[in-house]
Amino acid sequence: MSKYTPMIEQYLSIKAQAEDAFLFFRLGDFYEMFFEDAIKAAQELEITLTGREGGMEERIPMCGIPYHSAESYIARLIEKGYKVAICEQVEDPAEAKGVVRREIVRIVTPGTVMDGKTVGEAKNNFLACVTSAQGQYGLAACDLSTGELFVTATESLLEQLVDEINVYSPSELIGQPELLGLLQSKMAGWLPTKLLTGWERTDEQLLAAQFPEEELRSVSDVCREAVALLISYLNDTQKRSLAHITRIDLYERRQHMTMDPYTRRNLELTETVRERSKKGSLLWLLDRTATSMGGRLLRRWIDKPLTNRAEIEKRLEAVDCLYNGLIVREELRQQLKEVYDLQRLVGRISYGNANGRDLVALKLSLRQIPHVRQICSASGSATLKELGESMDDCADIRQWIEDAIVDEPPVSVREGGLIKAGYHERLDQLREASANGKQWIAELERQERELTGIKSLKIGYNKVFGYYIEVTRSNLASLPEQRYERKQTLANAERFVTPELKEKEALILEAEEKMVDIEYDLFMQIRDKLAGQVKRLQQLAETIAAADVLQSFATVGAAYRYRRPAVSDQYELKIEEGRHPVVEAILKDSSFIANDTQMADDDGRVLLITGPNMAGKSTYMRQVAMICIMAQIGSFVPAEVASVPIIDRIFTRIGAADDLVGGQSTFMVEMMDIQTMTAKATARSLVIIDELGRGTSTGEGMAIAQAVIEYLHDRIGCKTLVSTHFHELAHLEETLAGLRNHCMAVKESGQDVTFLRKMIRGAASTSYGIYCARIAGLPDTIIDRAYDLLNRFETVSSVIHDAGEAAASKEEPGRPEEQKAIRDADEPAPFPEVVKESGPIVQLSLFGDGDRMNKPASKSRTKTEQAADKLVEQLQAADLINMTPLQAMNFLYELKTKLAAEMK
Ligand code: ATP
Repeated sequence: MSKYTPMIEQYLSIKAQAEDAFLFFRLGDFYEMFFEDAIKAAQELEITLTGREGGMEERIPMCGIPYHSAESYIARLIEKGYKVAICEQVEDPAEAKGVVRREIVRIVTPGTVMDGKTVGEAKNNFLACVTSAQGQYGLAACDLSTGELFVTATESLLEQLVDEINVYSPSELIGQPELLGLLQSKMAGWLPTKLLTGWERTDEQLLAAQFPEEELRSVSDVCREAVALLISYLNDTQKRSLAHITRIDLYERRQHMTMDPYTRRNLELTETVRERSKKGSLLWLLDRTATSMGGRLLRRWIDKPLTNRAEIEKRLEAVDCLYNGLIVREELRQQLKEVYDLQRLVGRISYGNANGRDLVALKLSLRQIPHVRQICSASGSATLKELGESMDDCADIRQWIEDAIVDEPPVSVREGGLIKAGYHERLDQLREASANGKQWIAELERQERELTGIKSLKIGYNKVFGYYIEVTRSNLASLPEQRYERKQTLANAERFVTPELKEKEALILEAEEKMVDIEYDLFMQIRDKLAGQVKRLQQLAETIAAADVLQSFATVGAAYRYRRPAVSDQYELKIEEGRHPVVEAILKDSSFIANDTQMADDDGRVLLITGPNMAGKSTYMRQVAMICIMAQIGSFVPAEVASVPIIDRIFTRIGAADDLVGGQSTFMVEMMDIQTMTAKATARSLVIIDELGRGTSTGEGMAIAQAVIEYLHDRIGCKTLVSTHFHELAHLEETLAGLRNHCMAVKESGQDVTFLRKMIRGAASTSYGIYCARIAGLPDTIIDRAYDLLNRFETVSSVIHDAGEAAASKEEPGRPEEQKAIRDADEPAPFPEVVKESGPIVQLSLFGDGDRMNKPASKSRTKTEQAADKLVEQLQAADLINMTPLQAMNFLYELKTKLAAEMK
């Protein structure tokens, strides 16, 4: 019976360990893949699929990539959400008995990529781990490239965990498989991860080795479990030191403003909705950071606005100082620009893959620290002074590198050229020996030319033959044969060696080999010594990053004339001349129209915003949220005056029409979001509803919208901004004490409409939807027809309304209570029997004329009353419930025309 060759057998046993990861199996200068892996990798990487004999009858599918370009292939597979197990030869092939021993040395997964180029310099790459125990959920999020580890617990509600996971946008999520399944079902399209990995193994010993006992003691059981799972997973995949994960950054969720994934996305905090790009987001606008660390911290601050006033004030105080101090700000920026990514350098150092250039980058960065510290301390800001004082300039570390490593080391650490002269005695001696040897060779070349009289004679070197004397074919006759041993024949030259050249060569090569070994050892010693200092360097990196973000806020604030917000613990929110920061920045000609906002508990708790399409309603509502978020991250805000309360959560709800999640935003999802909103909002929350209830029938949609507004107003008392095209809802101002109608002003002149983008008190009467459609370029036929239909709808609507008013004003024996109830509820309800049903008539009553609300009811029009009676009769006779809205509309239109004729 045939069987696989020993090497393929070895491959198969290692592949079994790699499980679902692609196995990159090292064979000489290639990583090879076999069987299924090869077929899949050939497709994914677009490389040629070949085959190989493996002992069986059939050839084994195979494909390979050169080891020196593996990084880019690994990055491509990781980008697609795969894992890659790197399998290396772990013994010298020359010493191997049989097949060379191979082992998996690392499994690269989306959450454990270390390479800044793959994950993005100004972006963290988080691996998150979730656990559940006793009704609590634990979350640990770790960026392996920087060593940061954030840990928190959420209460029994799974949604909280979902929100929190989203803060980190992890590229990989691990945890108990059941919990992952549950999350997957809960998070629908919002799970930002590329990979979910079920993981249940923990190892107490590993955990104890990673963190001191007193640190672990402060962590709750469910969080400890999350950290334990995470450390065990990292250990299993990375198979090396995790010494740079030095601290568990434990926090409570209420320390930050909460936003659900939808809200984050919708407010375009870190990426835009449509292109999903940073450009156009708040992060993009606020990012004038000078370092990658600052860039990452800025993102985190935006993801986690503070809720503690004192902490916010500390940031604002520093921003204020830098905002007003142009010189200090510029100096700080200049110094920071010279600081490399300390966090990732430290990560590479303790991970064991930092090279000479990384160490030089660390040295150069550390050189800047005394200047940065000095600027912070002398800035006049208490916060910056505190930051400056906590900056350890790590002068000793800088000196170690300064003393040992040359200024321009090569990329490789295995080929020498790294260590400075004077650092190591033996190395210096060998260098001298080698240099002398080379000088001796140069001298030999001169002597040989003289001796032979061959001017073109030269001494060269190659790896195969070592040093040689080369003589061109035409000069061979001048060579005294006996001293020269022929080594190599070329097309037009011969190469020779002499005994003394060989002797010197041995000395030179030996010295060089030794030098390379010594340099490598010395480099490792220095790197290990630095690895022992990671905690200090990490702390320094954090303070540098914070100073950088603060200067970024000040720089942007000054550029766009932002103002310092007053942050209060009160309810009232007051903004004068507020602007949407990103829209304003994009409208380069400073044409953004500023607007005020005032929301007090008893006056404007709910702002109901009506007005035309394209008027700027969405922009206005988002701008209020943006200003609150900016204030709570410690930034100045786009307003002349802003007094903002601390908001505990922001919810946004955008109508189905916007379809932001690419098909996810069905009516059901919208309703589920509203459910979450009503369940979680508090009086300190800010709720933004942009077009509520648009995904269902008009009548039901409006009913839901009203009910939700009433609930938020009466029961929760949160600040609410609602925009709507249901102009009928404006009547709520009469019944809800804290609700105020606002609308976007419009100027009409002839056929033209100008959107003034100015928010004014009162309700709008039209949406100018058809006008917008005309501007969008719809054919005139459609536009004319639409105006005609609108006209019909409005006529029908007004007839129904007038008839209803007349009918309602008549005493109808036997049903006074029901009628009163309807009038009390301010329903335009001419036909109680029909309105109670959810049929087309309800929709009809809602079409068009938003002005109806403001029209005085006609009191004594006998002809109308008569017409109304007739209308009621005919309507009752008609089977309106079973008509489509259009049929019903046409029916009513004809009826109205007939009645109007009779009334004349
Ligand atoms: P719709 O009801 O159709 O969704 P809307 O009233 O919500 O419209 P927005 O989407 O907010 O309108 O704004 C429409 C356009 O007007 C946007 O392109 C925006 O850039 C611009 N805009 C909004 N507000 C202002 C403003 N205050 N100053 C200048 N331009 C503005």
